[in-house]
Amino acid sequence: MEAFQTMASTLASVLPGDSKRIAPPMATDVLAHIGGTPLVRLNRIPQSLGIKATVYAKCEFFNAGGSVKDRIAKRMVLEAEKSGRIKSGDTLIEPTSGNTGIGLALVGAVRGYRTIITLPEKMSAEKVAVLRALGAEIVRTPTEAAWDSPESHIGVAIRLQKEIPNSHILDQYINVDNPLAHEYGTAEEIWEQTGGKVDMLVAGAGTGGTITGIARGLRKHKADVKIIGADPHGSVLAVPEELNKNGGGYKVEGIGYDFIPDVLDRSLVDKWYKTGDKESFLFARRLIKEEGLLCGGSSGSAMAVAMQEAKNLNEGDVVVVVLPDSIRSYLSKFVDDDWMINNDFMTAEELEKPETAKS
Ligand code: PMP
Repeated sequence: MEAFQTMASTLASVLPGDSKRIAPPMATDVLAHIGGTPLVRLNRIPQSLGIKATVYAKCEFFNAGGSVKDRIAKRMVLEAEKSGRIKSGDTLIEPTSGNTGIGLALVGAVRGYRTIITLPEKMSAEKVAVLRALGAEIVRTPTEAAWDSPESHIGVAIRLQKEIPNSHILDQYINVDNPLAHEYGTAEEIWEQTGGKVDMLVAGAGTGGTITGIARGLRKHKADVKIIGADPHGSVLAVPEELNKNGGGYKVEGIGYDFIPDVLDRSLVDKWYKTGDKESFLFARRLIKEEGLLCGGSSGSAMAVAMQEAKNLNEGDVVVVVLPDSIRSYLSKFVDDDWMINNDFMTAEELEKPETAKS
């Protein structure tokens, strides 16, 4: 037995990449596992495209609720508690594309809030299932409703807040704790994890809290870090304005809007790229298949942009791409081969030989 134990521990210590991994300390609740996400080097995709720079993925799907938005949910709730704006037992209402809702429902479960989430119809059934499991109440709203119409997810949230006593909209679109969660959290982590060597940061924008906060945080350390934004065709967040002339809907979830949220400071972004559904989903599938990173569709959008912009970089340059959420929410969508084929994002032939798929 003793010999076996010695052998087992020797074996454990020689497994490459595994031996020095230190488990995080015991946590008093799961909120301790929001933030502190891994930064993982990409070893196949950039190389296959002839990119010389080193590219890292900031893997936000490791957060407790499965997305980057857990960070803002935690910070918005804890800061509102500190200021006396909300207290346990109150109701939190939030219009969201899903991930902020999951974050708020998770924080709400831990800290004792009722949560009501208003969610456009487009968002996946998997997100709804997770929200339900966390005890959130869900109101679906028409995807095509303009943001300022009473039927939109924002309009419905405002109406509910007026009707329900002790209810609050923490409002990720204007709440300073949204970008601050990234300025003090995500950006500092990236700076530390890269040992202060980051030349370019690529992220998509929904509310814009992620890209704005990371830009502010990194630029405190390095004024000339390049900030590159991904905005889907059909959204209006990109600058210059003429980039946004191709209207229409898109299937990638969580990025893009038909208005400019207050928390998005577009002056911090050096360059925007518009992204399409097909390239986003193909890159998300490659991140999963070739790098083992179980990410969502908007991760593919950021990756598509990073792979274009990184072509201009040299050996030794460092790029960080933010992967905002997880495969979990898209099992019936882009992860599913038939869904990809039925939506014309892939042919059956390309499925046989994925390397032939072109975005
Ligand atoms: N990707 C996904 C999947 C998201 O849910 C969100 C949040 N809407 C984003 C990207 C963009 O994050 P932010 O709101 O901070 O711009």
